[in-house]
Amino acid sequence: MMTHMHRIGGRPVASDDVITVVNPSDGLALGRIARGGAREVDQAVHAAQSAMQDGWGDMEAVDRGRILARLAELIRRDAESLAATESLDVGKPMSLARGDVAACARYFEYYAGAADKLHGETIPYRSGHTVLTVYEPHGVVGVIVPWNYPLQMTGRAVAPALAMGNAVVLKPAEDTSLTALALADLAREAGLPDGALNVVTGYGTEAGDALIHHSGIMHISFTGSPEVGRLVQQAASERTIPVTLELGGKSPQIVFDDADMELAGNTILKAIVQNAGQTCSAGSRMIVEDAAYDRVVSDMARRFAAVRVGPGDQDLDSGPVVNARQMERVKGYIDLARRDGLPVLAQGQIVANASDGGYFVPPTLIGEVPPDHPLAQQEIFGPVLVAIRAMDEADALRIANATDYGLAAGIWTSDLGRALRIARSIDSGQVFINNYGAGGGIELPFGGVKASGFGREKGFAALYGFATLKTITIQHGA
Ligand code: NAD
Repeated sequence: MMTHMHRIGGRPVASDDVITVVNPSDGLALGRIARGGAREVDQAVHAAQSAMQDGWGDMEAVDRGRILARLAELIRRDAESLAATESLDVGKPMSLARGDVAACARYFEYYAGAADKLHGETIPYRSGHTVLTVYEPHGVVGVIVPWNYPLQMTGRAVAPALAMGNAVVLKPAEDTSLTALALADLAREAGLPDGALNVVTGYGTEAGDALIHHSGIMHISFTGSPEVGRLVQQAASERTIPVTLELGGKSPQIVFDDADMELAGNTILKAIVQNAGQTCSAGSRMIVEDAAYDRVVSDMARRFAAVRVGPGDQDLDSGPVVNARQMERVKGYIDLARRDGLPVLAQGQIVANASDGGYFVPPTLIGEVPPDHPLAQQEIFGPVLVAIRAMDEADALRIANATDYGLAAGIWTSDLGRALRIARSIDSGQVFINNYGAGGGIELPFGGVKASGFGREKGFAALYGFATLKTITIQHGA
């Protein structure tokens, strides 16, 4: 069985220990990754610092962009093998994995074009002075990504970080590190200088902890759970360095009686079933206006019952969840619904030939759920949609805002005035009106409010997070 090594300073580096990688579709081992810790993180930070000093830090923005553009092309060249690896490692259907690879390539393509376009300003000031501002990289940045969309999350953070001229130490999730290692090799082939992108694999409490506390890290980009997000923020506060935190959500889909239900139903189903519900911006609360509640909920029940779940290579509507712990966690929420007498309205089908060892959870619709119940408040991170009744527009908005989270929101109505009123009042980083892009749209600034985190990724906005603004004031006389 193959052991995958870290990528540090452009070279494969081994560790004394390894972690077994498991295929979520059958629960069997499919390889091993190196189990890095403080020593490997320290090596990686030094390699990144050397890259900054040895040319990467001085490289012209247009040349950085060209390397990223070449990387985008290499990702496309290897799309099928990257998708196959991602599908095996995460358990996701091949079609979804292909979409993830395409999105990853788009991140590098988008930020390749953006690398030489973040301009400073000149600022009117006292006579005899000229003031200008310049964006500069932080230096060495730490990137920690979760296991749900490994290639997409990596591209989302690493591409803008490199475009701004930072060097990166990446810690992928221990369950799903394989495509990050492949990406590092492609980056080298694209001409990225050694040390500009380092990948240290390992557990969060070991490699991750060492990374967030390392004195050479000048910025941390973290995507994952709120609990670990708080640890990242605490570690960053000890050294007063900036962080970007993307911590998930409990995103509402608000459906009114006048909505196009065919469009809404299809989209709401896909947004929660996609990737077995393991999407930070999955619309996991369906808040339905009283007048439409029974009709909408029975329509959704019909749709849920038709969903088919199975191994990634069968390319069905959904695959397994990522590991046994997540499977128990999600099933625990479905059990809680039953214990509390909440109706389980419909469940999708796990195909008969799915392995007993796979981590399969049937997509599940539960309703009517009281807005303050844990199922309506906590991020389940599985294919579970809760239906909640709202009496009117004001009630729908109140319920939508009554969670700790605020990442994305969907509004379904043909009344544009109502849609805009809600869009402006809702606690959410992104709002979709009569559409919903769970995880999609690399051009669209993305990030949370409240417990969903802060800082913006995607789009041009992400570049500002990976840069610091310097103001230069020159006195030259009138
Ligand atoms: P997690 O936050 O523990 O893991 C995310 C990443 O952080 C992984 O790379 C992990 O190794 C690393 N990490 C873990 N502990 C760390 C530490 N002490 N210091 C530094 N890095 C550390 O997430 P999880 O345990 O894999 O999942 C738990 C829950 O988090 C999920 O059920 C879900 O609710 C949420 N989650 C959210 C997202 C998202 O995109 N917002 C993604 C994954 C998980």
